[in-house]
Amino acid sequence: MIRFIVAILLCVSFVSSIVAQTNPVSFSGKRLKRIVVRNAIVVDGSGKPAAGPYDIVIENDQITQIVGIDPVAAQEGRARRPAPGDLEIEAAGKYVLPGLINLHGHTHDGRGGQPMPVEYCMKLWLACGITTVRDVLGSDKTLKWRAESAAGQVASPRLFAYASFQGGNWPRTPDGARARVRDIKAAGYDGIKLFGIDRDLMAAMMDEAKKQGMRVAHHTGVEETNAWDDIKFGMTSIEHWYGIPDAAIESGRQNFPSTYNYNDEVDRFRYAGRLWREANWERLMKVFDGMIEAGVAWNPTLDIYEASRDLDKAQTNPAFREYLHPVLEEYFKPNPANHGSYFIGWTSTDEAFWKENYRIWMKALYEFEKRGGLIGVGEDAGFIYQMYGFGLLRELELHQEAGFHTLKVIQHATVNNAKILGQESTLGRVRAGYKADLIVVNGNPLENLKVLYPTGIEQIRNGKAVRSGGIEWTIKDGIPYHAPTLAHEVRTLVTKARVVTVKP
Ligand SMILES: [Zn+2]
Repeated sequence: MIRFIVAILLCVSFVSSIVAQTNPVSFSGKRLKRIVVRNAIVVDGSGKPAAGPYDIVIENDQITQIVGIDPVAAQEGRARRPAPGDLEIEAAGKYVLPGLINLHGHTHDGRGGQPMPVEYCMKLWLACGITTVRDVLGSDKTLKWRAESAAGQVASPRLFAYASFQGGNWPRTPDGARARVRDIKAAGYDGIKLFGIDRDLMAAMMDEAKKQGMRVAHHTGVEETNAWDDIKFGMTSIEHWYGIPDAAIESGRQNFPSTYNYNDEVDRFRYAGRLWREANWERLMKVFDGMIEAGVAWNPTLDIYEASRDLDKAQTNPAFREYLHPVLEEYFKPNPANHGSYFIGWTSTDEAFWKENYRIWMKALYEFEKRGGLIGVGEDAGFIYQMYGFGLLRELELHQEAGFHTLKVIQHATVNNAKILGQESTLGRVRAGYKADLIVVNGNPLENLKVLYPTGIEQIRNGKAVRSGGIEWTIKDGIPYHAPTLAHEVRTLVTKARVVTVKP
């Protein structure tokens, strides 16, 4: 009997020595049966305070146990700890959060007619802690990537594909609008992205979308319709912000100069910077109450307009040095042919108006949530100096700037986003029974959201400046990705692409 026990013990110690000897990084990208994250402080995504330490057990694609560690029992060596996993992640001094959800992403495999590997945005997203992306300009390719991601064949966040309602041969009649909704559903999309639209078409398409059980994300634009129509027809989410202040302007239309041309992007972005100041605050509160009553969420994408308030800052992001793909770099340059590249002749007056615009917008956003509104987080990267993943993390910082506690900011990007996707029972929380989408962070994002960037933060330790921070692991659907490895792969990809690009 004793010999038998000794044999088992030897066997156990042999297995554990293999675990100890194997470099955890070698498990990156591999689906494992069991992962245990140990000693983690957990921010669960619901907005409640951080707590820990906990051991988190992941089996296949699910979080199966979250075990609190009794400090006294642990000290005496009698704490009940979960059995070892195929991968053991030591998270002492680290924070675990739900995987971030990007509610407004674009899976780009090219910009401005030049190819750019989709691996670039997928790996950047994962390296920035994003485990789910709602692609709001989904195409056949997105459907393919969605399937490959779901099967664990590629390093990619899980994808939700929303097809553009106005993509291709877009409908001009109410019957056509209904048919288009049915076609999108039949093609296998998860939802619909709607741009600016006339009221009769919107009424028909929204009615059909309800019948088909399709969610709709609305880039409302400055159109016949505005937030009142989103309220009336039961929109899922308003993307960006157009349509909201418009609905609160007393005269019913912004005071555009007579030479204004909506199709001229300089005009459009310039006068957008003078829109919030025209909204009547009392009317705005009525719009908000209407949105809240109708369950219309707001995904403001504050990050994508930042160049408008500080062009130099946007153009000189230090992370560009290592992470900006040359194809994207070219696309960002001011050029009337590229959407969002409207900065030729941008003035200090434009920036001053935009700074004021942001002040009112952020105050409004804070008020929206205070009254009961549901706020999401999305980046819209690939345009206007925002890189994939980095854009979403910047968006978190801007939610903090708007006045939200970092616990609420993280809630916006996890629980709230899951709700807007209709996935709140499986995604967005660190909770047993939920999908194993979580991130292990080197540092405390509640104190400093900048620890989430792959570039990390600089700290003084023992009188010396050292780099720290960054996400250590992004676990998506139970597959662990070593974030610094992914970031390294992206930097290599960028370096190689630059060499190719500068060839004579
Ligand atoms: Zn977009």
